[in-house]
Amino acid sequence: MFEKILIANRGEIALRILRTCREMGIATVAAHSEADRDLKHVRLADESVCIGPAASGESYLNIPALIAAAEVTDAGAIHPGYGFLSENADFAERVESSGFAFIGPRAETIRLMGDKVSAKQAMLAADVPCVPGSGGALGDDPETNLALAREIGYPIIIKAAAGGGGRGMRVVHTEGALLSAISLTRNEAQQGFGDGTLYMEKYLEHPRHVEFQILADGQGNAVCLGERDCSMQRRHQKVIEEAPAPGISEEHRQRMSERLVRACQEIGYRGAGTFEFLFEDDAFYFIEMNTRLQVEHTVTEQVTGIDLVREQIRIAAGQPLGITQDDVHINGHAIECRINAEDPATFMPSPGTIQQYHAPGGPGIRMDTHIYNGYAVPPYYDSMVGKLIAHGPTRDIAIARMRGALGEIVVDGIKTNIPLHSDLMNDANFQRGGPDIHYLEKKLKSQG
Ligand code: ADP
Repeated sequence: MFEKILIANRGEIALRILRTCREMGIATVAAHSEADRDLKHVRLADESVCIGPAASGESYLNIPALIAAAEVTDAGAIHPGYGFLSENADFAERVESSGFAFIGPRAETIRLMGDKVSAKQAMLAADVPCVPGSGGALGDDPETNLALAREIGYPIIIKAAAGGGGRGMRVVHTEGALLSAISLTRNEAQQGFGDGTLYMEKYLEHPRHVEFQILADGQGNAVCLGERDCSMQRRHQKVIEEAPAPGISEEHRQRMSERLVRACQEIGYRGAGTFEFLFEDDAFYFIEMNTRLQVEHTVTEQVTGIDLVREQIRIAAGQPLGITQDDVHINGHAIECRINAEDPATFMPSPGTIQQYHAPGGPGIRMDTHIYNGYAVPPYYDSMVGKLIAHGPTRDIAIARMRGALGEIVVDGIKTNIPLHSDLMNDANFQRGGPDIHYLEKKLKSQG
C-alpha cells in the first residue's frame, strides 16, 4: 500500500480524499494554488505544496508543477479527484512514466473513452445499448450526411467527439438545417477542443439521465454498484442526484449490471468509472463513460456502504477487488443536493466570505464540504461549495430528511442555491420520482 498520496485537487473532493487516506493510515500532500492556502484540507494534510497562482491553468492544470510536487514530497501516488486533470490521458501517462501511481484508469483507457466516437464503438462492440446514430465520425460529403440523418430520423443531435461539459452539441429538427448545423458545430469543436471530429445521434426528447457506477481492478474482476438518477439538471449541469433511480426494476438493473461488468472486462478497465445513459421508454442508451470519481459518488456510497475512494486507492496499489457482485446490496435510498455559491434567482456566482456556517445533522445526513466560518470562497473556481446527502430506508424518508437538513443548514455571507433545493424537495413531480432532464429548466422558466 502507498505510504503517501498527493491530492491534485481542491475543495470538498480534496478533503473527501484526505479523509479516506487518513482512515487508511496513508499520509497526504495537498497540492494547492496561491488562492487556496486556507482550504481546510491544506490545513489537515501532512504536507502541502503551493503549485502556482490562482488561475487553474497555472496550478491545478499545471502538469510539471504537480509532478515536481510529488517528487519533492516523495509521494507514491497521485489522486486527481474530479474535473481538472482527472480525465487527461497525457497527465495519467506523465504520472506513471515519472514513477508514481495514477489513481485512475490506464492512460489508454482514458483516451479511448475520452473520444466519444471511439467510446461508442467500444460499447457497441461490448453489446452495451447506444443511442442510434452514425456509428462513427461524420465525413464531409453533404449527400451522405443528409442520407444518414434521414435514416436515423429527426430530430437528431450533432456532437463533437472531443466535447465535454455539455458543450459542442447542436440539435437539428429539420433537414433544411442539417448542413449548416454540421459546419457550425465543426468550427466550434475545432476551436473549443482542437478537434473537429463530429458524430450524429438520434435526439431523444424526454429522457432521464441514469448512470451506473462500476469498480474494476484491471485483473479481470469488476462489480457494478447500481445506478444513480441525475435528471435534475440546469444547463447540462447536475443539481440533484439520487440512488437508486426511481422506477428501475431489479431485473433491468441486474441485466445492465451484467453487461457493464462484461464491458469492463473486455476493455480491461481499471479503477472507478461511470457509464452514463439516457433512459427513455424503459430503455437505456449509452452516451459516455466518465473514467474518474464523480461528484455524485456519495449517494452510491450511502446505499452500498462501500467507500469508493478506498477502493480506488486499493486498485491503484495493485490489489485485487475485495468485493464480488454478491457483496453489493442496495440499502434504502440516498439523495444529494449540490450546494453552490450562486444567486438562487439569477444563478450568478456569489463568491465571498462565509460569515456563519452551521452544519445540518441527524440520522442519515452527510455533509461533504470544505467551508467553515470565515472561509473566503474564491472567485476563480467552480461555484460548488458542498454537497448535502440524505440517506433513509425509503425514498420518502430520504426526502423528508433532506428537507429537514435544508431547513437546518446556515450558510451566511454568500448567496447559495439552498432555496432552490428546498423548493425541489417540495415539488410534487420530484416527489413522485422520474421527471426527465428538461424538467428543472421548464420549471424555472415557468416561475419566471
Ligand atoms: P458531455 O460530455 O458534454 O456531458 P454528453 O454526451 O454526456 O456530453 O451529453 C450531455 C447532455 O446532453 C446529456 O446529459 C443530455 O442532456 C444531452 N444529450 C446528449 N446526447 C443526447 C441525445 N442523443 N438525445 C438527447 N439529449 C442528449
